Amino acid sequence: MKAVKRFFSLINNIITGKEHVSQQRKLEALSIAITLVHFAMLVIFVRLYMLPMIVYNLIVVFFYIYVFQKVHEGQVLKGYILTFIEIAIQVVYGTFMLGWGVGYHMYLVAIIPVFYFVNLTYDVEGAKLRTPLIAALAAGVIYFTTYGISLCLVPAYELTSSQIHGIYLFNTIPSVFLLVVMSHLFTLERRYFVSSLTKQNESLGKEASEDPLTGLNNRRSMEIRLENAMARAKERGVIFSLIMGDIDNFKKINDTYGHDCGDEALKAVSAIMQSSVRDGDTICRWGGEEFLILVTGNRGEAVTVAERIRQRVSDNVVRSDENEVRFTITFGVTTYKPGYNIDKLIEQADNNLYIGKNSGKNQVVSKEY
Ligand code: GH3
Ligand code: MG
Ligand code: MG
Repeated sequence: MKAVKRFFSLINNIITGKEHVSQQRKLEALSIAITLVHFAMLVIFVRLYMLPMIVYNLIVVFFYIYVFQKVHEGQVLKGYILTFIEIAIQVVYGTFMLGWGVGYHMYLVAIIPVFYFVNLTYDVEGAKLRTPLIAALAAGVIYFTTYGISLCLVPAYELTSSQIHGIYLFNTIPSVFLLVVMSHLFTLERRYFVSSLTKQNESLGKEASEDPLTGLNNRRSMEIRLENAMARAKERGVIFSLIMGDIDNFKKINDTYGHDCGDEALKAVSAIMQSSVRDGDTICRWGGEEFLILVTGNRGEAVTVAERIRQRVSDNVVRSDENEVRFTITFGVTTYKPGYNIDKLIEQADNNLYIGKNSGKNQVVSKEY
């Protein structure tokens, strides 16, 4: 009962793709399903009183209980191989006993996608595409050989036409069902791969463009944004300004309160900057305690932003252990003019910052050149 319940909840998860079901769980479900099919076959053959088929199905029911145990212990590949072998034997044996017409051969068709699915998802080192191809070809050879021999041989049991149709249906339904399930699993697997790759790409992209301490853009991603801003300014006349900031006497903060406190100060400045700029402006950690802000707007607008940040930083308190640490920041501002390139703009912002540092710090300098 518990196993059946587990089987159904597993099927539900597979269908919705809500959770990525492990290979082990999939084969567990498959072996439970095959066991149930053989149990039903057993009942049918008891009713038809066909002793060799009863014995075969009885053995196979126990065989799949054994397969389930092996899979449950983690021997997934072994489980698949045993399943393939049993299906091949079943097709040959069932056809010779009851004839081609009862449709045992359908199982050989239905397991071909399973070979490819195992290859796709089972993480065997060096798993090659030729393995499922060889297995599929082997299934084809068994299929046609069995068909050829069945043409020459009279089946061991002579069945009535309605018995043939009944068993044919019984064999075809699980085969078609398996084909549907496998097609569905391929689709889910593809979705799963795509979504996990997208997530990986996103986090790689983030790592490549973000400063890990502050979460701001790093220098590399800022350089790309600067180039874009430059192109927009040249093509469409969209004016932008640069604000270069450098925390005052930062070395002293580190030396007096420790490196961790210095890191907290950097994070505090980042947060203040983020809450002080408009959407579309870009903040970057340009160097150790240097920041560069790209503002869409003219010199006056950039000075307003820089002044707002300067004020907020000087009002801010970073708590480190028992200490309340206060500090300030100096800014140099510059604005795009036709004919300027990025290096020139950064040089001007840097110059203004330098002027600010040499004339008392804690100020915004926006001298025009
Ligand atoms: P000024 O007012 O002239 O800018 O003086 P300053 O002490 O801020 O300048 P200086 O460039 O001499 O010192 C910068 C210090 O920043 C030196 C370096 O150890 C520290 N620093 C750089 N990156 C980090 C970091 O990620 N965390 C911490 N805590 N300190 C850093
Ligand atoms: Mg400094
Ligand atoms: Mg510095």
